[in-house]
Amino acid sequence: MFHCPYCKQPAHTRTSRYVSENLKQRYHQCTSLECSATFRTSETLDGVIRQPAMPENAVALLTAGETP
Ligand SMILES: [Zn+2]
Repeated sequence: MFHCPYCKQPAHTRTSRYVSENLKQRYHQCTSLECSATFRTSETLDGVIRQPAMPENAVALLTAGETP
């Protein structure tokens, strides 16, 4: 759930897609009938708290500003 950047009301996720393995885009629609803004957000993996005991695949982390 994300808040509308215009009216600050909650917005529902309508659809989402993976752009790459660690980057997901979500499309949101504002729940306010008078606003009804639609917008997109990006979700990235930006930190690992603890790696698996036996990781099978290394995970590449990107910092802000880098492109996949
Ligand atoms: Zn809104």
